[in-house]
Amino acid sequence: MKEKVYNITSYLDELFPNPRCELNYNKDYELLIAVVLSAQTTDKRVNKVTAVLFDKYPTLKDLKNADIKDIEKIIKEIGTFRKKAVFVKEIATFLDDNYDGKVPNDRKVLESLSGVGRKTANVVLSNLFDEPCIAVDTHVSRVSKRLGLAYKNDSVEVIERKLMKKLDKSIWSKTHHQMVLFGRYHCKAINPECETCKLYDMCKEKKLKV
Ligand code: SF4
Repeated sequence: MKEKVYNITSYLDELFPNPRCELNYNKDYELLIAVVLSAQTTDKRVNKVTAVLFDKYPTLKDLKNADIKDIEKIIKEIGTFRKKAVFVKEIATFLDDNYDGKVPNDRKVLESLSGVGRKTANVVLSNLFDEPCIAVDTHVSRVSKRLGLAYKNDSVEVIERKLMKKLDKSIWSKTHHQMVLFGRYHCKAINPECETCKLYDMCKEKKLKV
């Protein structure tokens, strides 16, 4: 397994030497809100709507006091927009009322916020506070299973635990970003680019394409 993990991480380093989150944000709370909005949609769509949302409501107080119908209108093109508009207002209100508008470096508090689960907390903790974390999203899950780092029926919690065990803690956050990008641009759900993939020999799904 050690050699396998080494081969995977070396290839990911080759493909994505400086991986970063592809959600756009200028302020800490903007990242938190962008990650909440990104559930079941693409970063590209989220970036499109947050550009308008954060421009129209440039402070957390503005978002807290925004008309929910207007938030809905702005984020309409992403899935479950009504529910997400409520999350935006509730998060803005909570942070403004209790944390002076700051995002707390505290997993428990983050996970208590509307629309924030473990994956979102992991993304926020790793990007804003350099906490070593592995956020398991749809890409990380798929790539882990295809590469035999997890079983097909493993839950996201189990996958996260397995990856934390197999990978050195110092590369958790980096590898998370790399796996997201690998899943997004190479090991796609449909039509993965197996012909050019250097992990082909160890892949459980290599017969998909070749
Ligand atoms: Fe993904 Fe194909 Fe590479 Fe397997 S061989 S890891 S399915 S891109």
